[in-house]
Amino acid sequence: MPLPSPLPPLRLTAPALSGRTDPAVTLSTVARLVASGTAVSKADLVPVTGLARTTVSAAVDELVSRGVLRPDGTRPTPGRGRPADRLSLSPRGGHVLLADVGATGAHLAVVDLSQQVLGHTHVDVDVKDGPEVVLAAVVDSLATLRAGAPVAPVRAVVIGLPGPVDGQLGTPVRPPIMPGWHAYPVSARLREIFDCPVILENDVNLRALGEARALPDDQAPLLFVKVGTGIGGGLITREGALHHGADGAAGDIGHIRVRGAPDVVCICGNVGCIEAVASADAIARRLGTGADTVTVAEVRARIGRADPAALALVREAAGLIGEVVATLVHFYNPARVTLGGSVTAASDELLAGVRSVVYQRALPLATRNLVLANSVLGEYAGVAGAMVLGIEQALSASDIGGLL
Ligand SMILES: [Zn+2]
Repeated sequence: MPLPSPLPPLRLTAPALSGRTDPAVTLSTVARLVASGTAVSKADLVPVTGLARTTVSAAVDELVSRGVLRPDGTRPTPGRGRPADRLSLSPRGGHVLLADVGATGAHLAVVDLSQQVLGHTHVDVDVKDGPEVVLAAVVDSLATLRAGAPVAPVRAVVIGLPGPVDGQLGTPVRPPIMPGWHAYPVSARLREIFDCPVILENDVNLRALGEARALPDDQAPLLFVKVGTGIGGGLITREGALHHGADGAAGDIGHIRVRGAPDVVCICGNVGCIEAVASADAIARRLGTGADTVTVAEVRARIGRADPAALALVREAAGLIGEVVATLVHFYNPARVTLGGSVTAASDELLAGVRSVVYQRALPLATRNLVLANSVLGEYAGVAGAMVLGIEQALSASDIGGLL
């Protein structure tokens, strides 16, 4: 029995068909149109794909016979025609394994191609222990989750890490808080174990994607700002896709320098980075006195119980983060800015502070329809983004052959 999912249904996108008749492209397009809910019967698929009725019919029949799609009731048709057979993704299509690894813990899940969560858990891992230890714990927990799910092949693995990654190479790139991970072949290692495509992504990018796909499509472009141990960002385009930039560094906002910030040296070696002066880590450092150190978990707890010293520091941080967000709003003109991470989860103080600076500083055209809100998925945003990437990968033209 599938577990109750902590996630709402997520919007999947389908690429436009280019008029080519490559069978893999046709099958992928039909499967993704059904997965996205854009067209869920043969009759709907014909006009949306622009393909001949017989081509659509053959593709649907093949996908149903291979257990990728399944008949799922009927849908009334306009006029006098008999109701159309409704299609949906089949739970028999295979598993997608998801790992959203943060600095000190990982959310793990096993899902099927119909977005059913077959198992999920949270495990304590410390990225400072290095890739071997952390990946072994992730692989073990995923195996345990799979053992509780119906037997099916693994179609894709998606892993998010709290640092810059090279998605093409499948390796972290000089991640500041992850000693021993630079250039470690994360994707290759997991591909060896699970024998399927592996996607490595930055954890904030996953959150941005999950958040965007849980919201109506008019909430994109979306800028996700995570304020936790560090500060990071992720960008979603108007079309609902991740914007990586040329080398995957887009949205990595933690090292933007802020005007008037204290001269604190950042882990990157520069002075006055937003992460060094406004993250949970920075607040923890300032709350501690001498030998009395304060952990990030304590910062969260103090904010939660409205400790005045902690709240004053959160307000100060909100002012600095607001300056950065106001600049980014001008640059990117997002429909929505989403705040996430442990500091935002603990109280609405950060949101209120960032809002007031952004609406005061940014010009009317950029803020006229801007929504600035806390994450709707909270701690599950990363897993949601991973689910979207994994299912879209399994149904892509290059991989759908593996399902047949
Ligand atoms: Zn820095």
